[in-house]
Amino acid sequence: MNDTILVGNGTVFTLGRDNRVIENGGVLWSGGTIQEVGPTEALRPKAKEFLDARGRLIMPGLICAHHHFYSTYACGLGFATPTNFVEVLEKLWWKLDRALDLDDVYYSALIPIARAITSGTTTILDHHASPNAIRGSLPRIADAVGDAGIRASLCYEVTDRNGPEGAKAGLDENAAWLEATRSHTHGLLHGLVGVHAPMTVGPETLKACVALMRKYDTGLHIHVAESHFDQDDSLAKYQKRCIERLHEAGALGSKTLAVHCIHMEDRELDLLAQTHTTVVHNPQSNMNNAVGAAKVGTMLGRGIRVCLGTDGMTSNMFEEARAALFSRHHMSNDPAAGFMDTAKMLFENNATTASAYFGKTLGVLEKGAAADLIVVDHLPFTPATPDNVYGHLLFGAAAERVLTTVCDGKVLMRDGKLLSLDMEQITQKIAARTPAAWKRFQTL
Ligand SMILES: [Zn+2]
Repeated sequence: MNDTILVGNGTVFTLGRDNRVIENGGVLWSGGTIQEVGPTEALRPKAKEFLDARGRLIMPGLICAHHHFYSTYACGLGFATPTNFVEVLEKLWWKLDRALDLDDVYYSALIPIARAITSGTTTILDHHASPNAIRGSLPRIADAVGDAGIRASLCYEVTDRNGPEGAKAGLDENAAWLEATRSHTHGLLHGLVGVHAPMTVGPETLKACVALMRKYDTGLHIHVAESHFDQDDSLAKYQKRCIERLHEAGALGSKTLAVHCIHMEDRELDLLAQTHTTVVHNPQSNMNNAVGAAKVGTMLGRGIRVCLGTDGMTSNMFEEARAALFSRHHMSNDPAAGFMDTAKMLFENNATTASAYFGKTLGVLEKGAAADLIVVDHLPFTPATPDNVYGHLLFGAAAERVLTTVCDGKVLMRDGKLLSLDMEQITQKIAARTPAAWKRFQTL
């Protein structure tokens, strides 16, 4: 049966090594895999279904390398004013995550996932915490991911902050998820071992996390040195810096995500580079929490793979990329700083990391790659060439609406209409649930 679909009559940016710009181009796919990329007229006879891009930009779906779906419930939530980052955790996040039950976990995930689809993000690496609803939380998030139709890597945030039973329950949830996804073959779900941060995991818990990571041949997904408190804690308790401690515990490696890495010394950067550990930069969150700025240019210059995430601030990767770029300009007093670094993080490094996790080529439009693609309401009104695609993306497409989103070959949004989720119904459900969750928050 011919199930091929063509999105055509657009300007195609393939990205990737070939980095082609194809006028009047299209992408043809069957199942979840791209069959051909080329001129629309050559592909059209091969397609059963045709989606007309009407001259707009066709490009790969975007990837978010760090998110927290449960942050949905923080929108509009009143909380005591924090004076530093630890108080941000204690007064907001560690109370909010305790207020969630399993249904909250499911519904709170649907909003950022829907926003991902409407802003062109088709793959998300999420980091979850719900200390009073740990067991079964990752399958509930997977339900939301499955209902929406995107690709996601999930993990539960192991920590000692809720006592030994909480730590064990977190480890068990990761283990159950990794076991469930081990035989997963369609490539839409993945698992890492989640850890909150060095400052909330003692030696025994960290050791257990590393053992689990090795058993399932995966990596850790851990916040590191987001604020100076993490380094202060590590030096006081262990007389070593965070990355040194993680290295000695065997936690670093090519499959591990070290998120933030703001307060780093040279020897820590050397260890990240030597172990091929991936760092994830989250500029909007870092600015919001006033925790400092990661030295992205320095890390990339040392050969460290730095990816781009949002830390729950948004699902819109164009928005995050512009925040990354403009914050570099602003802080360095240099209007040329960080342009290629920002493009490299979002369009190259996120794609490389996610492709390795999901076992399929992501972030590029080419034969054999995943059929994850978007149509952006960007009519290239200046010449588009392989040399200036990043300029078109960051200064043109980034400010426009995403019209159509396809993940794993399935059309999740078409011409601005979200097809996989009923947002009115979901919004009503969440609006009915949040008052109770907020009430629990205020009593915790
Ligand atoms: Zn985070």
